Amino acid sequence: MSSIGDGTRAVRAGLPEPQQYEPTLPGPVFAAHFHLSGEPVGPYTYGRETNPTWTHLEKAIGELEAPGEEVVTTVFASGMAAISAVLFSQARAGDIVVLPTDGYQALPLVREQLEAYGVEVRTAPTGGDGQLTALEGAKLLWIETPSNPGLDVCDIRRLVEAAHAGGTLVAVDNTLATPIGQRPLDLGADFSVASDTKGMTGHGDILLGHVTCRDTDLAAGVRRWRKVVGAIPGPMEAWLAHRSLATLQLRIERQCSTALTLAEALVERSEVTGLRYPGLPSDPSYPVAVRQMRRFGSVVSFELADRQTAERFLESLRLVDDATSFGGLRSTAERRGRWGGDAVSEGFVRFSVGAEDPEDLLADVAQALDAATR
Ligand code: PLP
Repeated sequence: MSSIGDGTRAVRAGLPEPQQYEPTLPGPVFAAHFHLSGEPVGPYTYGRETNPTWTHLEKAIGELEAPGEEVVTTVFASGMAAISAVLFSQARAGDIVVLPTDGYQALPLVREQLEAYGVEVRTAPTGGDGQLTALEGAKLLWIETPSNPGLDVCDIRRLVEAAHAGGTLVAVDNTLATPIGQRPLDLGADFSVASDTKGMTGHGDILLGHVTCRDTDLAAGVRRWRKVVGAIPGPMEAWLAHRSLATLQLRIERQCSTALTLAEALVERSEVTGLRYPGLPSDPSYPVAVRQMRRFGSVVSFELADRQTAERFLESLRLVDDATSFGGLRSTAERRGRWGGDAVSEGFVRFSVGAEDPEDLLADVAQALDAATR
């Protein structure tokens, strides 16, 4: 069903056909093995290969990633497991992989590992479609848009067109947008990848990841990698994730709308510099974002004068937890420079907008800015 709305799709995603006396969403199946006599043929044989709870969740995510289309989704124990599955199932010694310079902070570790296996890694920035210049002869292009935490955006269609012209596959880390905000497969990507630890599940209580592809051979490589490495989600996590998807549109809609309101309020504060939100018409990311995104995400980034001011701001917030990660129902914020992995100033704050009442959140941010700069 591609004609229904996002909210309707989210509440029904992946549900099996109704069966008398059965629950709407079947409970988690805890099984290391399944009864299996004769030839060892699936669907369910051994718990590292498949699980009925994953099947429901994979169907749900597939419906959100590519409504009305046949796609294959594979769920993983974390976003990093999903990212690694794409890169390590595709790249061989001698291949070239293009990564962003400003992507998720664990990508440099992935780079080291790829290079240790004899893969050449090139990097270029997300903004200005910088990766276009690094595509020559590449096997795989890795895009992260909007980038975390800088919130630069690249033109997925344009990069895909250039990559495919040279036989390069394209994977998009869609963690920040979620499929409610952006559908990489519609924009031509070969792999849509995400850390579902963030907005997809939204409660800050599970780690999960997924990869969705149209091409069944590419999907088979990803699934094979999951079997080899065993980076599988627990049935309880998979079930909780599916349960959380029902509220995906409600949560993301609310969070994105408050994020825009917060960004608009921060424009007015003289102590805030380097403000970024792709949905703000004055943001450098806006012209591309508005063409390819349907919602602009729950993360707002900005800079305060220095480390001390940022720390005082975070300590003064009452409704916002000082914590990493993003996309959750409860607002979180952190001084990103504390991790040391991102090219950001000491006063850089990544703010993840939750589902609180917008006026409460804005008032809290205003009083914390006052307190921090007093
Ligand atoms: N991709 C992005 C954009 C992220 O922000 C993160 C985590 O913060 C990951 C991937 C990794 O996800 P996970 O922590 O679920 O392994």
